[in-house]
Amino acid sequence: MATIAFIGLGNMGGPMAANLVKAGHKVVAFDLVEASRNQAKADGAGIADSASAAVRGADVVVTMLPAGKHVLGVWNEVVPAMTKGALIIDSSTIDVESARAVHALAAKNGVLSVDAPVSGGTGGAKGATLTFMCGGEEKAFAAAKPVLENMGKKIVHCGGAGAGQAAKICNNMILGISMIAVSEAFALGEKLGLSHQALFDVASTSSGQCWSLTTYCPVPGPVPTSPANNDYKPGFASALMVKDLTLAQDAAKAAGAATPLGKHAQEIYQSFDAAGQGGVDFSGIIKHVRSLAGKA
Ligand code: NAD
Repeated sequence: MATIAFIGLGNMGGPMAANLVKAGHKVVAFDLVEASRNQAKADGAGIADSASAAVRGADVVVTMLPAGKHVLGVWNEVVPAMTKGALIIDSSTIDVESARAVHALAAKNGVLSVDAPVSGGTGGAKGATLTFMCGGEEKAFAAAKPVLENMGKKIVHCGGAGAGQAAKICNNMILGISMIAVSEAFALGEKLGLSHQALFDVASTSSGQCWSLTTYCPVPGPVPTSPANNDYKPGFASALMVKDLTLAQDAAKAAGAATPLGKHAQEIYQSFDAAGQGGVDFSGIIKHVRSLAGKA
């Protein structure tokens, strides 16, 4: 069993750290927020006074923070304090450029590093069923895999530094676009007098089939577990979709890739967010699509 420092004990990091404790590791945790530190203590982790104190002597360090600037700040503080040859994993969703910058910092300090963003949300974090998309050298991935297996059920090595972040934002760009496409189809079907169930029965077994339709259907009824049946409570909040679509656009600009639908999806989710709907599940975009009738 390893000594693992865990920094960032929010909605995702808190339950992920608890799963590492459950797996038998010695976990030393840190967060800026006292309530999160207290919860980690109740879950069986040791609590450090600072991020750099948490990582001293650790075999593995995990960070789960809001955005690239937080990861840059924390890694700049902790990497120089780590044991040479130890491993640091960042599971936050951040921009590819910052991910590559922190890998370079780790290499300079003789520390192995992996970017390992997740999908599966807070339910996956609690149930240890997350998917981890990993970027980094083979040796670093091999060291990270058994640790990540305590928090997730699918661990994929996507390539070198930043490849995990690249896979995450490409996947979520597909998701944002496909949810709008499915919502537009239901909104058009409604105007044409087609029942939700009839459209679902046809499209779910035809070429329109996709995850946004069959698992996360944006109208209540056809998929009883989708957030549409629970007043669009997240799930995955629209504000987080804006974040991921913006990361995809930043990456597309930097890399010179054309993503016209990704750009349009970003604008649509931004206007939903600006209308005060950022806390609504991202499948609630169907309400916004309906509201555009007669305007677009
Ligand atoms: P959150 O805001 O609940 O948690 C972030 C935590 O980081 C907070 O507790 C905050 O106090 C802490 N923090 C910030 N700066 C710190 C510092 N310098 N030192 C120590 N702690 C610090 O966010 P979350 O929902 O847990 O998400 C974390 C990451 O995972 C984000 O990048 C998010 O995009 C990604 N993600 C979230 C979900 C989800 O459903 N919530 C799903 C997939 C990916």
